[in-house]
Amino acid sequence: MSIVESIKEIYSELPEGVSLVAVSKTKPNEMIIEAYNSGHKIFGENKVQDLSRKYEELPKDIQWHFIGHLQRNKVKFIAPFINLIHALDSERLLQTINNEAEKCNRKISCLIQLRIAKEETKFGMTLSEIESMLNSETFKNANNTVIAGVMGMATYTDDEEQIADEFAELQQVFNYLKEKFFRENPEFKEISAGMTDDFHIAVKYGSTLVRVGSRIFGERN
Ligand SMILES: *Cc1c(COP(=O)(O)O)cnc(C)c1O
Repeated sequence: MSIVESIKEIYSELPEGVSLVAVSKTKPNEMIIEAYNSGHKIFGENKVQDLSRKYEELPKDIQWHFIGHLQRNKVKFIAPFINLIHALDSERLLQTINNEAEKCNRKISCLIQLRIAKEETKFGMTLSEIESMLNSETFKNANNTVIAGVMGMATYTDDEEQIADEFAELQQVFNYLKEKFFRENPEFKEISAGMTDDFHIAVKYGSTLVRVGSRIFGERN
């Protein structure tokens, strides 16, 4: 199936209002252009160097999302153009993002990554770390950062019940944070959840942004 057909098919499987981030990491510009020419504008990358190069080489109206763990010393390279950072995972990273956004005279939108997977290896914050960040001076003074919602990655497993439990937890935490910290704030609205193998489950638990790579662009090496 072609890239364009895959994107169409995925959209036909998504509920109204859910957006697709086409995860183009490791894939060449030609493939991105193919999707872009069919009207798709949102792409996700997880390496700063690759993203910076693709940003320079590809059309400027692409909305680039950074989807992986972001090192603080690399924020400055993407700050001028990044559309959404999916994996805010520490208060220190928030401070850095805000500083770099201020230097660029813009606001940067971020999603807080909640650790939902039972695996030890996944990045992300616990709920208590998130609450402590949202109660901090860092957050109160982060005028160039928009917290646009939450993100989570489920455990890599065939156990669909476990995946469902983890996405349900993400949705509950989203609702809790919305009520407690973002009540009057319409910008806090996204739940980034679901990849090629589990987005069908994620959308049942309120995902508004699915991040799909291999289903569109083929397997990665
Ligand atoms: C690679 C990646 C994806 C896409 O994974 P696929 O299984 O290829 O759809 C989604 N989210 C993150 C954070 C990733 O690193």
